[in-house]
Amino acid sequence: MTRSITLLGSTGSIGTQSLDVIRAQNMQVFGLAANRNAALLLRQIAEFSPRVVAVADPAAACQVEQELAGKPSAPCVLKGSEGLLELARMDGADTVLNAVVGIAGLGPTLAAIESGKTLALANKESLVTGGELVMKAARDKKVKILPVDSEHSAIFQCLQDQNSAKSLQKILLTASGGPFYGKTRQQLAGVTAADALRHPTWNMGGKITIDSATLMNKGLELIEAVWLFGLAPDKVQIVVQPQSVIHSMVQYTDHSVIAQLGVPDMRIPIQYALTWPERVEGCAPELDFTTLSQLTFGVADEETFECLAAARRAIEKGGLVPTAVNGANEAAVALFLQGKIGFLEIGRLVSLAEERFADATGAYTVSDVFDCDKAARRLVESEAHLLA
Ligand code: NDP
Repeated sequence: MTRSITLLGSTGSIGTQSLDVIRAQNMQVFGLAANRNAALLLRQIAEFSPRVVAVADPAAACQVEQELAGKPSAPCVLKGSEGLLELARMDGADTVLNAVVGIAGLGPTLAAIESGKTLALANKESLVTGGELVMKAARDKKVKILPVDSEHSAIFQCLQDQNSAKSLQKILLTASGGPFYGKTRQQLAGVTAADALRHPTWNMGGKITIDSATLMNKGLELIEAVWLFGLAPDKVQIVVQPQSVIHSMVQYTDHSVIAQLGVPDMRIPIQYALTWPERVEGCAPELDFTTLSQLTFGVADEETFECLAAARRAIEKGGLVPTAVNGANEAAVALFLQGKIGFLEIGRLVSLAEERFADATGAYTVSDVFDCDKAARRLVESEAHLLA
């Protein structure tokens, strides 16, 4: 395929798997962006010859610039978070794939949409923190947002029939349950970052792996689904599917249920987002029903995994409440990974943010989003030492 892609977050888990798809499909890379991992970005530049790269971290940006100095056909190097915005806006790519982690992805998402590019969106935090702004910008600019998250790609694939939207009754958003499915609060009290980073079915970046263990990831995905598919939060049911083979389902008014299945390999939804509306030969393995011994289902325990309940309450309230919950989660996960708070404290801090920001339900601007994010992070920093 001759599509030209700008890939933001190219050095991460989604970023590197996206490059597997780009390589297999012989697509062109117009731009690459990363934060700190200069060494990997330089290897990617050597292989994919982008015209432009953006590096958010100033020291890494200088390193990349020095390494490329004097090399023939070296890409232009843009620096800092502004550099990512500039790259997201630049002509030259058909599609911007945003695989940055966290709220840092919101600005590039808005920049890509405002410049009229098709957006393949892995960065769920863009929709969680600024869903109203993102969806309005996409409507105004008539930009297509193609979901990369496996569950949202599954729902999108189940909704391809053009009559489907008006008879959609509910979304069945599947969850693996993470490494601690079935565990009690008592059992979770002493789990470490190393325990939480061992996901049973998916191989992902660090932050989303912790979010999967706390079920915050499912809460973020619930909010993402509400924005992408325009259903009320109570029309999104979480279904635990521990084998991660059913990636999500939709139920129609006649109670027919349509599901999308496949091996748990992110290259499938990434490829679909990059080739839509076409389907092409896949680079991920096929699902082998001769070895698939069982498909089981369960219910998410929202009392033990309180992040999910807090995220649900946040999107029911709307406004900036999901932004606050997301900011608190990003700060709490960072503290957990540094060993400064326990696993259960992540849920306590996220719930606290949902309570403290419960009145922030009005309309908002981009700068309100970033102010709210900072305030939620400050709340976590001030409360976390009381929990330590
Ligand atoms: P990773 O942590 O593996 O990668 C994150 C990427 O973002 C890296 O390239 C990193 O650069 C870059 N980055 C981090 N901070 C900044 C910043 N401030 N400015 C610019 N770039 C930055 O994350 P994942 O790939 O796991 O996840 C990316 C997104 O995709 C998340 O929103 C996640 O929820 C979503 N997602 C991920 C899935 C997965 O399987 N991993 C599945 C579905 C959704 P560097 O490495 O140079 O520091």
